[in-house]
Amino acid sequence: MSTLKSVAKGAAVQITARAAPWVWRVRRPGSLVILAYHRVLPPDSPLREREQPSMCVTPDRFDRQLGELRRHFEIVDLAEWLARSRRGNPLPRRACALTFDDGWRDNYEYALPLLVKHGAPATVFLVADHLGASYPFWPNRLMLLLRLAHTRPDAVGFPERLHAIVQPVLAAAAARGTLTTDDIDRAVQRAKALDELTIRDLVGATTAPFDEPSAGPDLLDREEIRRMAATGLVRFGSHTATHFRLGGDPPAAVLEREIVGSRRTLQALTGQAIELFCYPNGELSTAATDCVRTHYLGAVSTRGGWVPARPDPHLLPRIGIHDGATHTRAGFVATLSGWI
Ligand SMILES: [Zn+2]
Repeated sequence: MSTLKSVAKGAAVQITARAAPWVWRVRRPGSLVILAYHRVLPPDSPLREREQPSMCVTPDRFDRQLGELRRHFEIVDLAEWLARSRRGNPLPRRACALTFDDGWRDNYEYALPLLVKHGAPATVFLVADHLGASYPFWPNRLMLLLRLAHTRPDAVGFPERLHAIVQPVLAAAAARGTLTTDDIDRAVQRAKALDELTIRDLVGATTAPFDEPSAGPDLLDREEIRRMAATGLVRFGSHTATHFRLGGDPPAAVLEREIVGSRRTLQALTGQAIELFCYPNGELSTAATDCVRTHYLGAVSTRGGWVPARPDPHLLPRIGIHDGATHTRAGFVATLSGWI
């Protein structure tokens, strides 16, 4: 970004951060903003190596963000807020709901103590068939493959179709002499143009001579889930059975397994009613949304913004929070506004 542009953006962030809380005060009663978090990891965690930067906040920042949220909002349990809204019961004047996608282990290790400290409820969306799993999702594996291909181009054998997707990114990185996290993000985004089964096959068929890091499980296991539930602050929702992106026109058997089956699995495991659903990558189809409507009280998407006055409870917008946009108080407040 040019200096002029970044100065202008900085000024816009400052002005928005000052104005937003005043505007919030005069919003209609019963307004709600839902925040979407993924991972909470210290800045020096080696786990950041295989993660997109748009997925992480540091524990320090998360702590400060919870403090800031409590100044402006009542932090509510999302399922409870929806149930009250559906019954026509009174709602808090200005509410904020916290959600975490994927069910990362760091949610237990780093986020939970801070949720307890601030008395903040949250919903964690679990991938039902991958509890306690290490290395569960294809984007994480693709990131490692790209890093390896950048340092040892001959060592990685991408299938032809995947090669065509990653090659321009790798070639540009080679010409520059460095593979940045933006490069990796770009390659992952390009790969997401393929449907879920195809990209899983292609990443799985890529050959590479590396041992996957075995730092233990990446995703929450049953015991951690039990302990989180026992605080009375954390409720769980479904993020499908296998993190299946539900765009296009998934077969009925896939919808049954990913939407209905995951709910059954998680109810049996957590002992909680699983009332909320989260669409992986925000991708959905009419058939998927219809199925979600039949089996869940509500669902969250990745569409940005505050929840509108008369929301569709199965297509709720959220505001994504990560280090990139929210490393200062002003940046966080401006992001919360949903205006920039
Ligand atoms: Zn996800």
